[in-house]
Amino acid sequence: YNTSVNHYLRDHIRTVQDWPAPGVAFRDITPLLQDAKVFRVLIDAFVHRYMDPALRPDVVAGLDARGFIIGSVIAYELGVGFVPIRKRGKLPFTTVEETYELEYGSATVEVHVDAVKAGDRVLLIDDLIATGGTMMAGKKLLEKLGAVVMEGAAIVDLPELGGSAKLHSSGLPLFTLIDFE
Ligand code: AMP
Repeated sequence: YNTSVNHYLRDHIRTVQDWPAPGVAFRDITPLLQDAKVFRVLIDAFVHRYMDPALRPDVVAGLDARGFIIGSVIAYELGVGFVPIRKRGKLPFTTVEETYELEYGSATVEVHVDAVKAGDRVLLIDDLIATGGTMMAGKKLLEKLGAVVMEGAAIVDLPELGGSAKLHSSGLPLFTLIDFE
């Protein structure tokens, strides 16, 4: 993963100011997906890393909803299964859940109880790390089932919000492609 790939991908992230609320700079990844060539460069940046036998996971877990889009393709390319971690109320079978605090209120994520096995090495994927709360909740959820989250990965990190530092100090290695202030 080199500097020119970094710039190429960065140029295909659209910033939408004041969405969904005033003061938020929303980093929209849809331009990375809609162009076939860019989409392939994006996915290959992850696949290249996790094809390494030392880093190859048993399972890829994706966080609702943009983590599904890239996570499932990465899993397919690695030849491993994919597990969706969903917002509460969407999964039909028995679940475990984890609630976490947001700026205003709280959110709950769920996974099926049989989605991973004890001892599975899981790669956890989302599009972006802000405060790190979503990824931390996903990690705790998978750990409730006895899995080992070997790494968290995302397209974008917002390091100034402190989420990636917090995740890292909780013992979760992270791999992200692009930083924004
Ligand atoms: P957090 O739990 O604070 O790390 O927030 C990460 C989750 O919220 C991810 O699933 C992102 O898709 C979404 N998110 C938070 N902030 C932004 C942002 N500025 N631009 C795009 N997505 C965001």
